[in-house]
Amino acid sequence: MKPPAFAYCAPERVDEVLALLAQHGADARLLAGGQSLVPLMNLRMVRPEVLIDLNRCADLGRIERTAAGVNYGAMVRQIEAERSALTGAHCPLIARALAQAGPIAVRTRATVGGTLAHADRAAELPGVAVALDATMVLERRSGRREVPAREFFQGDMTTVVESDEMLRAVVFPTIDAAAFADFFEVGLRQEGIAIAGLAAYVAWTPGGGIAAARLAAIGVESAPVRLTTVEAALKGQTLTPALIVEARHLATAAVDPIDDTHATAKYRKHVTGALVKKALEGARDGTKH
Ligand SMILES: Cc1cc2nc3c(=O)[nH]c(=O)nc-3n(C[C@H](O)[C@H](O)[C@H](O)COP(=O)(O)OP(=O)(O)OC[C@H]3O[C@@H](n4cnc5c(N)ncnc54)[C@H](O)[C@@H]3O)c2cc1C
Repeated sequence: MKPPAFAYCAPERVDEVLALLAQHGADARLLAGGQSLVPLMNLRMVRPEVLIDLNRCADLGRIERTAAGVNYGAMVRQIEAERSALTGAHCPLIARALAQAGPIAVRTRATVGGTLAHADRAAELPGVAVALDATMVLERRSGRREVPAREFFQGDMTTVVESDEMLRAVVFPTIDAAAFADFFEVGLRQEGIAIAGLAAYVAWTPGGGIAAARLAAIGVESAPVRLTTVEAALKGQTLTPALIVEARHLATAAVDPIDDTHATAKYRKHVTGALVKKALEGARDGTKH
């Protein structure tokens, strides 16, 4: 099946994109890597009258170090973000997560902004954004606003982006180089959709205790969920085997998972606890999985 007819615009500047969004609003869709939008259009589940292609907007394709962290333009390809020296130096959790975000052919085309705006509940990068308190930079013709990642994701494929707005960039705060940061997931098959995943970050005190833990689960509820009860229990503590067991139980209790054809809610609860245990053991041992 192919999509119904649509008008196609390929602006070269962001102000032209914003003007088109102001003109067409909900009748328009932005085209980034097309890895989700094009299949949805072919299946006629999405029927834009106007397609606004972002691929010629060079301004959206940069990765820059700023005072606030590392700024990824919306059109940075996932493979570029994963392999960037800035990511490696300041935000390696992004690389760990993106390496698991589908086949390399898809990551070569798919963008940072596309996966965040699409907001699939099983997508990896939204989990990293929520775990690390990234800032989403939204823009419309009348101005910009910044939205914390925890407020940006409203549910499966639902965000706060309005019909005349675009996601312009995302800013990830830099993380402590000595901290543990890794991404874990369980799926039905290699490179397949995650049944449950976990973005994990643990920073240490000079004495070896936990200065801060940030844990966000994906694929479990309709949007990434921060495991705040687990984080609170870990903060200021020493990572003993008993604390890891407690964290696992707290994580299992913290989530209210969905049931679908891939897995039951009960199984997702179990996996969430198991991933927290695995992450904390990795943090304790200084290993990556
Ligand atoms: C075979 C396959 C396997 C995959 N596996 C995974 C996986 O394991 N993990 C994972 O996370 N993803 C996976 N994906 C999804 C893919 O990696 C992309 O993240 C996803 O398709 C969206 O990125 P995109 O750049 O292709 O966006 P597009 O498909 O172009 O757009 C997606 C949606 O976001 C909107 N949009 C895009 N850019 C903006 C913007 N700047 N502002 C506002 N709205 C915008 C579009 O209008 C559209 O509604 C897979 C895809 C395929 C085809």
